[in-house]
Order: sequence, then structure tokens, then C-alpha cells
Amino acid sequence: MSEPTGAVRTRLRGYLTDTLAELPAGSALVLRHPDLPNAGFHRGVTLPWNDSDPEDDRAFFDIAYWLLGPAPESADQWYDGIVRGWAERGWPLRSDRDTRPRGTTATTPDGYRLTVRQSVRGHLGVAGSTPPFPAGAAAGEPWPDRIDRTPEPRRELDRAAAELRAELLGLTARLFPGASPELSMLAEPAVLEYREPLRHHFTATLQVAEGGADDVPRAAAVLADAGWLVTAADDRTLTATRGGFRLRVRAYAGAAGLGISGETPGYVLSAQAAPARPEPVVTAATLRAGALLCYECAGLGHCPECLGRGWILDAERRRTRCVECRGARTCPVCAGAGQLVIRELSDPQRQQYPELDPGR
Ligand SMILES: [Zn+2]
Ligand SMILES: [Zn+2]
Repeated sequence: MSEPTGAVRTRLRGYLTDTLAELPAGSALVLRHPDLPNAGFHRGVTLPWNDSDPEDDRAFFDIAYWLLGPAPESADQWYDGIVRGWAERGWPLRSDRDTRPRGTTATTPDGYRLTVRQSVRGHLGVAGSTPPFPAGAAAGEPWPDRIDRTPEPRRELDRAAAELRAELLGLTARLFPGASPELSMLAEPAVLEYREPLRHHFTATLQVAEGGADDVPRAAAVLADAGWLVTAADDRTLTATRGGFRLRVRAYAGAAGLGISGETPGYVLSAQAAPARPEPVVTAATLRAGALLCYECAGLGHCPECLGRGWILDAERRRTRCVECRGARTCPVCAGAGQLVIRELSDPQRQQYPELDPGR
């Protein structure tokens, strides 16, 4: 039997990822737990929604994962963390029992069910099931072996990517009912602009083999109807923006077909900490005999201007190549050694060390 596709699938996946939000970094849902080699889960199962009614052709999808991360002694706390996260969202809970092994099921307002259950040996399993959907929809891609806990901004960016995908496919379906375009989107977001703080976004493109310049005004009308701000660049290209999303529709010159592309808003995925000062490669205590700490970097070895990153921020907070090391990352005077041999110093270099008593 088929699997849920589209929104149902995205939603269930989102709820499973959200369930990890309350847990420590590094936690993940996995089909195969390394401690339980003989108890792997399958990639979910589609079952009839109502077995007792042959007229009811609806189905639902159910999938279970092991929770990777908690040591057996902290499994109780992790269990409680998951249940607390669901409770804080206001989802009704139902517990199997209060003694171990425990199990709790939450029901979301849109009819998804999530269950956390302890095994006899203390491992935790998390299962999710969908509300009913019409049976017979096409099967989707296989479910992942592993769902990682992701930081909050990344989850929002992933949601934006799903929305972008839906917008591009929805627009294509409106313009060319029955077309089955190939949509391509990278699995990982790209840097939107090299300006601190770095922002990432997703881009997607799809090609439609039919249509042409006449369809660009049709696309403009569909998009304007859906609240997009549409700008026509010329009679074969338009751009549309809405809530930080950007779409572009272009009719190919001299051939049939349209190219539709889009990008999500940019998200700052990690707070940009001040650059850490690297450890010096040499200190007064570890100098070689007959050498002095480099007068430029004082033993750092890394370029003292950019601290070994190779770039600095300009006045607009854009990354630019470091003016001192020109991107080489090492101190230009000692070439990374952090120290200079006294015998090999040039005269101007000697003058940097008044204690050497120049001239003698
Ligand atoms: Zn140096
Ligand atoms: Zn530098």
C-alpha cells in the first residue's frame, strides 16, 4: 500500500523532529539502534484506517524509531522531557501506565499521534502516525534512517524549504495541470551572502517542458492572486516576492518551456561568536635557543590581524581578504614559526628588538 505524500508526510516528519527539541544536542531518532542490532524498525507501514468497514478506503501511516542518546540511567529523564514538551504544546496526553516500562501518547490538534515508550531494558522508542488520507496515493521517498535534533533556526529554514517546494509545485500545477515537473533543491542550505552574521537559504529550480512567453502573464496573475508582489522584468521574465520568499519565472528564448526558480528567506543558523584567539605556536618558555618571539605576532604564528582566519570584516561587515597575510593565514614576518633566529635577522628586523643593542 502507498505512503502519505506531500503535506501529511512533511507534517509527521516535523512533529518527530519537534519531539527532539526538548532533548540534549546529539540526540536522534534511528531505525537501527547500535545496542539493539536485532530490533531494527522498518521504514513505516501504511494500514487501513478502518478495518471493519470495507467501504472505507482511507489509510494511515505509522512509523517508529529508537531514540539515540540517553544512557539507561537517564532514560527516565529523557522520557519525561519528551512528555513535558508535548504537554507544553497543549496536546492531550494518554498514558498506558505509571510504572516502568511506561508509554505515553499525544494527539496533535490536526490528528497526528505521537507515542514514546520505554522498552523493558530501558531504551526509548518514539512512534508517529498520521490522520487518515485517501489510500492509493503514490509512494514517497523512503523515510530516513535517522532524524537528527536540529537547532531551532534550522528547523524554521527547513520549514521554509518545504514551503518553497510547495509554492513552486503549486504554481506549476495551476499553470500546467497534469505536468510532472522535476524539482531540484540541494539537501543543505547555501550561504545567502558573505556578510556577518552569515545567513543561509535554500534555492530550488524546476523546468517545465511546455509553455512559453504567453504563460508569463498567466503566472503573474496566479501569483498576484496569492498575495505575491509581482514585477515583470521584460515580457519573458517576472519576479515575485512574498514574506521574504522570491520566485522567478522565465520563458526560454527560441524554445518551448519555462524555468521557475525560487529562494527562501535567509536565516542565521548559528550565533556568530567573536573569533577565538588561537593558541600561540611558541611562548617565551618554549623558544628555541638563539631565537626570539616574532616581533609581529609575539609567538602566535597565525596572522595577528585576522587571527588565522584569512579574512577580516570590512566596514559593511562583509568578509574581505585579510590585508596583512593576504589570505595566507600565517604571520607574514615569521611565516608561522612564531619565532625568529637572532643570527638570521635583517637589519630592519634587528631594530624591532632594542634589547639586541644594534650595531655591535
Ligand atoms: Zn610572526
Ligand atoms: Zn591575516
